[in-house]
Amino acid sequence: MKCAYCGKEARGTREHIISSAILDLFPECYITFDDARNAIHEADPMVKDVCAECNNNRISYIDSYAKEFISKYFVKKYKEDDVVEIEYDYTLIQKMLLKYAYNDMRSRKEDCSFFDEEILEYLMDINNNVPKDNITVMCGLAVNVSPVPDSMFGNMKLRWCKSPFLYSNSTIRHIDYNTGEVFLNEDIKKEEFPDLRLSYAFRFNSVQLLLFCWDKESTSIEQNNIVLECQYPYHLLKKGEKQAILPVCTDELNYHRFDHIHVKWDGLFEVGLMRKYASGGKYEYKELCEKEWLEEEKKISKEHPRGK
Ligand SMILES: [Zn+2]
Repeated sequence: MKCAYCGKEARGTREHIISSAILDLFPECYITFDDARNAIHEADPMVKDVCAECNNNRISYIDSYAKEFISKYFVKKYKEDDVVEIEYDYTLIQKMLLKYAYNDMRSRKEDCSFFDEEILEYLMDINNNVPKDNITVMCGLAVNVSPVPDSMFGNMKLRWCKSPFLYSNSTIRHIDYNTGEVFLNEDIKKEEFPDLRLSYAFRFNSVQLLLFCWDKESTSIEQNNIVLECQYPYHLLKKGEKQAILPVCTDELNYHRFDHIHVKWDGLFEVGLMRKYASGGKYEYKELCEKEWLEEEKKISKEHPRGK
């Protein structure tokens, strides 16, 4: 087998698509729902085409950072008015998402030509800390503002997908404030970005990260970044920036459908608020249900300990 990172002939070792160290933070999520293969199983999602040297030594620093970053801020759930300020290392965030996307794409046998020698070198070199200009990362806080508890859709704290659907306009056309009636926008197009080679959405419990990989030669990257920043309720991570306050990026619908990226001005944000006020300002039964579920999760974690 040829190693997917260094290219040398070697025996393949098992590489987690999402670091084992991150999966370890959420032992209660012990089931893998694999839509691509139409399967549900207990084993971790893996690929097996990385040599032992790359897997254990050369690229493992990325996993260490990923664990540090996720465990520091996103193991807990947040409320919509919480102010969450993160400190981050932009290069390492880029590398972490690139690595996961690359792993996932290989496991699906997709065209991985974006991951050329330059990108692979970038991933393998711990000392290369110059972020790539043709990579964009956005980050938002995933808060369940819906009346529906998380557990209703399964224990899906960790999710990722290729090519999330980025809306070009609000899903809601009009709200009649006299009756509360909501009129949907029937035909919303997907926002197209010139020179986009691939994109991914990742949900790690209470954070959502979007990865955009642009053509190296593209002259539209700056413009694409401006559109992304103006149009979506995420913080666009920047070279040289070390801290950021994360906006809430979810409404009551796409909290559960994480691959639907709604625009900042989507009427759903308002509909969610209206619904909540109409329920007396809080979702009492959801809160009760969530409290019970926390206890249940503790039991599940004990029954399915993760260990090496
Ligand atoms: Zn290798």
